[in-house]
Amino acid sequence: MTFPVIGVVGGGQLARMMAPAATALGVRLRVLAEGADVSATTAAPCVVGDYRDLETLKDFAATVDVVTFDHEHVPAEHLRVLEAAGVNLQPGPEALQYAQDKLLMRQACDRLGLPNPEWAAVATVAELVAAGDRIGWPVVLKTPRGGYDGKGVRVLDSAAQAEDCRDWFALGFEALLVEQKVDFSRELSAQVARTPSGTTASYPVVESVQTDGVCDLVTAPAPGIDPRTAQAAEEAAVTLAEGLGVTGMLAVELFETPGVGPGFMVNELAMRPHNSGHWSMDGAVTGQFEQHVRAVLDLPLGSTDTLGAFTVMKNYLGGANEDLYSAFPTAMAAYPEAKVHAYGKSVRPGRKIGHVNVVAPLAEDLDAAREAAEGAAAIIRDGHRAQNEPGAQPAPDEHDEHQEQR
Ligand code: ADP
Repeated sequence: MTFPVIGVVGGGQLARMMAPAATALGVRLRVLAEGADVSATTAAPCVVGDYRDLETLKDFAATVDVVTFDHEHVPAEHLRVLEAAGVNLQPGPEALQYAQDKLLMRQACDRLGLPNPEWAAVATVAELVAAGDRIGWPVVLKTPRGGYDGKGVRVLDSAAQAEDCRDWFALGFEALLVEQKVDFSRELSAQVARTPSGTTASYPVVESVQTDGVCDLVTAPAPGIDPRTAQAAEEAAVTLAEGLGVTGMLAVELFETPGVGPGFMVNELAMRPHNSGHWSMDGAVTGQFEQHVRAVLDLPLGSTDTLGAFTVMKNYLGGANEDLYSAFPTAMAAYPEAKVHAYGKSVRPGRKIGHVNVVAPLAEDLDAAREAAEGAAAIIRDGHRAQNEPGAQPAPDEHDEHQEQR
């Protein structure tokens, strides 16, 4: 039995969605999960343990052939110990630090000649004010580590607001990142896979709409993007993957800036499959989870050709409907073209619990694909069709809802 075992640190939906891709290839996955009820536990064998504990990581690594990640929060010092002990980490700590620390990431982009917003490292309110005056207000202040989904990001309109950030300077970071508030036309994401042998495979650059700091809607490829911008963004992702020694999937989040530089600036990096790549599960020959599995095993990468003119991915967050499955018949009957994905998570308001992909075979099908993705996601989130839709069922009234809760 030479099929390898991949260990995934972290049991969120990304680990969960690696499981079917691995299984299809006969590869086994083992997950180091944060708890017995996290998303991946019903998809792959899990051991429950604390990823911040070195001994736990060592024990876990001893049971697998390669270790990869569902998130970027494993302490870098632990990863260095594991690496020194010969553990096969993909990506390794040298690469991962640029996804863990936004200050290091900004430095790396400057070094590699990639377009950054104006930025500075600031350790005090006075330094923040000086940097804001130099860059020009408004500015965006970020914690270098630990942020996600917009947590760890503050927009400051003026020097007066800098005073309100004393709490962040007390968090214990050596410095915070302050950067120009970019006047972007939309957000883009460029994904590339890279193997330890150094081969790469790029996906088309996508448009990603963020709502309240959370990825909401992705269209692949980004409609109407200037082909030169798309090409330069793809190349930037490859430059980062090669320059930083990334292995597995890399997502480069970008701001589109028409007419400024190559038409984009780098926002941040993720070294794992990424929400902006979920479309590829149904819209590309090789989905990002299979590609990640191939990459970390140093297998030849799969084709990234698309299966339609566009693919739309709509996330659904926790809403009124607590029994997601009860809405599946309505959603699936209304939108047979929709590919529904659910993460096996309990419903909490605002929590990412699933997504819907719809492929638009032809360019003129894009609007219909978006409507189908949004329509199916809304039914699952709300438990019923929108009131103004033809054939919609009346929403349960308050009385019924209270009955249900009991
Ligand atoms: P997170 O690590 O939480 O994903 P990001 O750095 O991606 O944080 O920032 C979250 C969101 O804040 C971005 O998607 C973007 O909408 C906005 N944002 C971040 N940096 C800037 C910036 N320099 N200029 C304008 N908007 C920004």
